Amino acid sequence: MNTTKTTAAVSNIISKGKSYLHNGEVALVGSGPGDAELLTIRAMRFIEQAEIAIYDRLVSEEILALLPENCERFYVGKEQAKHCVPQDKINQILVEQAKLGKKVLRLKGGDPFIFGRGGEEAQYMLERGVSCHICPGITAASGCTTYAGIPLTHRGVAQGCTFITGHIQNNGQLNLPWQSLSCNTQTVVFYMGINTLPKIAEQLIKHGRNANTPAALIRKGTQPEQKTYRGTIGTLTALVAEHNITPPTLIVIGDVVNQLTSKQLSIPGFLDARDYTQVNVIDEKIVQTA
Ligand code: SAH
Repeated sequence: MNTTKTTAAVSNIISKGKSYLHNGEVALVGSGPGDAELLTIRAMRFIEQAEIAIYDRLVSEEILALLPENCERFYVGKEQAKHCVPQDKINQILVEQAKLGKKVLRLKGGDPFIFGRGGEEAQYMLERGVSCHICPGITAASGCTTYAGIPLTHRGVAQGCTFITGHIQNNGQLNLPWQSLSCNTQTVVFYMGINTLPKIAEQLIKHGRNANTPAALIRKGTQPEQKTYRGTIGTLTALVAEHNITPPTLIVIGDVVNQLTSKQLSIPGFLDARDYTQVNVIDEKIVQTA
């Protein structure tokens, strides 16, 4: 590979890209789950142009370090149930800053439209005449599982995948469509579920998923501190207590968990062939019909 040529081509896309942030506009940008290498080029373009960045707790230090030196920073970090800055206030800040004529970057962990309240923020801005660019990011379910060596779907093992919130509702309940999550050939990924895990495990088993179904917890996925804990639906709750696992953590349920490896990868995002011992035979019938 000709690195100089490739780097020049990438710089060309960055400098001549379509993603131009005008004064008085907001760029609602997904920064992915943490590793700066997972940023899109479009995200980088907006980051470079920002005059003020309004960002969440899930945006990594590595990504914040990419902000221009003279860019103002405004932390509105949220932790489960204790919002550092309430959502209403965040909405107002975005509109205020845009109306001051600034180039505003709203930087969010993962993807802004997946459990990120990005839709609400966009709606609020649009209703007040503020235009916004929207830029997807790699959502935690995709980035963290991949960096843990877990394919979300796998022929003959998981035909589909559901992303669902484990966050308790305002009425204090966790009312989820449990029946639809009980299918054995479906991977289920819970966001914000670490505090409700005992309930999640209980309900999945009650609705027919085998307690021995492989399951994993991925904490701080794609970041240098990434940790993957593998077990089964029946053992996850004990794993949390044993290792004192706190957010941000993703819960992954399904046979795909041990499909490529049952180990914690020593380098997140790198499957070492020397560690591969499992022989996975794909169902012949499926191969024929594929
Ligand atoms: N918009 C984000 C999700 C925000 S909800 C996205 O698309 O990824 C916050 C939840 O996402 C956390 O409680 C956790 O379950 C999950 N999460 C986000 N980043 C994560 C990371 N790096 N590692 C593990 N879980 C993460």
